[in-house]
Amino acid sequence: AVPTAVMVATGRGATFGILIKGGEALQRLEKIDTIVLDKTGTITAGRPQVTDVLLAGSESNSAAEDQMIRIAAALERASEHPLAEAVVRYAHERGLSLTQPEAFESLTGLGVVGMINGDVTLIGNAALMRKYSIASEALQAAALRLSEAGKTPLWIAVNGALEGMIAVADTVKPTSVQAIRQMHAEGLRVVMLTGDNDRTAGAIARMVGVDEVVAGVLPAGKVDSVKRLQAEGHVVAMVGDGVNDAPALAQADVGLTMANGADIAMEAGDVTLMRNDLIGVPMSIALSRGTMRVMR
Ligand code: ADP
Ligand code: MG
Repeated sequence: AVPTAVMVATGRGATFGILIKGGEALQRLEKIDTIVLDKTGTITAGRPQVTDVLLAGSESNSAAEDQMIRIAAALERASEHPLAEAVVRYAHERGLSLTQPEAFESLTGLGVVGMINGDVTLIGNAALMRKYSIASEALQAAALRLSEAGKTPLWIAVNGALEGMIAVADTVKPTSVQAIRQMHAEGLRVVMLTGDNDRTAGAIARMVGVDEVVAGVLPAGKVDSVKRLQAEGHVVAMVGDGVNDAPALAQADVGLTMANGADIAMEAGDVTLMRNDLIGVPMSIALSRGTMRVMR
């Protein structure tokens, strides 16, 4: 039977927009010592905007830029990633009509590959360029500069040659800094986990004050990071919103998800954060600690 104190606490959580699935999850929250946070859509708003467009070969030239944005956006329609949405929205804002790809495949944690007008087209991160052996020196310095500013550079290649880059930037949720400060006040260690590159990740990490950053991880790597922390003896809560977070949410001792996140993430988690921000994370742990103390 679920103790009355647990039922009461679960009800109180709900009034703060913290939906805890069952008393057992509430009890497990007490022992958490490490919080793992996904970046995009969890720490940040997850509604990134295009900020820069760069061509590999030539000076800025709006016709060539339009052509590149058109194929990039056509491919990104295949992806549900927030970065993809930003590129598609931007193409529409520029009034571009999008080409229909003959084929496309979304490569989780890397980007998208497809065929457009008979051309093999790629859009994604540096790891995607490496995977397809694209010579990318021409834009390496630019990518570095954009990443240092907290922007995510998306590389574009056509038929094995680098075409250019579209940079996309997300904004930190207004409550993230305060929530992470409260996690620290509860004595928790805070780790940020992201598939994004380490410079962009580092820039965001400095903005919000996390203790540790693990960047460039594929979805399988997110699970491994949680397992590694657990193997070190930590009791881990994972907070995420995406399809790619679902396995790590399930692996964690407690998984917390954003209500506006992917359904599969919410199913994998134990706690749903109705306010779609991190404030509920330290709050749910404080609630659990208080409840368990009363019960002893
Ligand atoms: P996170 O949600 O933590 O940022 P993801 O695993 O979703 O991590 O993405 C990791 C990286 O893979 C992104 O930062 C981006 O560089 C690249 N990527 C993923 N999907 C796309 C896409 N549709 N278009 C371009 N790049 C992508
Ligand atoms: Mg995410």
